[in-house]
Amino acid sequence: MKVNLGVGAYRTEEGKPLVLNVVRRAEQMLVNDSSRVKEYLPITGLADFNKMSAKLIFGNDSPAIQEKRVTTVQCLSGTGSLRVGAEFLARHYQQRTIYIPQPTWGNHPKVFALSGLFVKTYRYYDPATRGLNFQGLVEDLSSAPSGAVVLLHACAHNPTGVDPTVEQWEQIRQLMRSKALLPFFDSAYQGFASGNLDADAQPVRLFAADGGELLAAQSYAKNMGLYGERVGALSIVCKTADVAAKVESQLKLVIRPMYSSPPIHGASIVATILKDSEMYNEWTIELKAMADRIISMRHQLFEALRERGTPGDWTHIVKQIGMFTFTGLNTEQVAFMTKEYHIYMTSDGRISMAGLSSKTVPLLADAIHAAVT
Ligand code: PMP
Repeated sequence: MKVNLGVGAYRTEEGKPLVLNVVRRAEQMLVNDSSRVKEYLPITGLADFNKMSAKLIFGNDSPAIQEKRVTTVQCLSGTGSLRVGAEFLARHYQQRTIYIPQPTWGNHPKVFALSGLFVKTYRYYDPATRGLNFQGLVEDLSSAPSGAVVLLHACAHNPTGVDPTVEQWEQIRQLMRSKALLPFFDSAYQGFASGNLDADAQPVRLFAADGGELLAAQSYAKNMGLYGERVGALSIVCKTADVAAKVESQLKLVIRPMYSSPPIHGASIVATILKDSEMYNEWTIELKAMADRIISMRHQLFEALRERGTPGDWTHIVKQIGMFTFTGLNTEQVAFMTKEYHIYMTSDGRISMAGLSSKTVPLLADAIHAAVT
């Protein structure tokens, strides 16, 4: 049996991709609506989608939204949202250095560098504790030049699964605001980490609540299972409504020569679900089921290692958050598991918990046990 734990997409207990029932229903409604046509969307995308996406991340009664200080544009999933945000910053923001966590999602440095930003890193992960290197993070952000951009994973940090606590987020916020560092949140897993959309958006809302500026890139790939539909949004929170309007005109100038306007289908699915309270509720239930299955895989794997008496501290498996576990296994151990047990994962020892099932947990535990003993 082969087990592929390298993929960054959700799989069911049977190892199959999942299309949410609420997504199927929304698509059916769209197909049945004969008034729908295939005209171009505006450059900024579907208005309802943008409005609902901002509410989803900033909260229903966000003062920034009410004060019209937020501009939101529909983009091509999380990657496209990061790219449009980065292109905008490279052209219009005075401090063109962006700090990204070490390590981070492999595409981050490429997206930002090709947009024309200077990429630097801040310490994030501590291999010794398999947790957050909070002191290193604080030191690095403290010595960053005033005004620099800082990329923050909103929740479920990829690849480490390590997130700051609420208290640490508050300290990061105070530090960043005191140095006028600009937060750029990458929110690729809202709801997918804890199973609760509001809880996972807490760090972003903490920063938005202080009235300062920030950028947020949202993806519906994971939390709505819309991977290939490429649906996401970029929001920029400004200090005044007047600035937000100007930012929107500039965003149009960034988007127009890249792809003119975004695709209509995925955004229509999302807007249909977010606008209808009954469909929204069904979505939250299906989303929680995905998150719960992943959390249950963490517990099963942890228990299986305990039963085997596998040497070492494996508590990080249940402490880490989101789709991935950063196992702490080294390149040789990973290669051994692939050769002897046909278990595939990235060479940095990251495994996708979403690719595991009750059937494959014992095999993985056997492989880890053999690799470390
Ligand atoms: N950011 C992070 C941290 C991710 O893990 C991913 C998906 N792997 C993305 C952004 C973007 O994904 P997509 O473009 O498919 O929304």
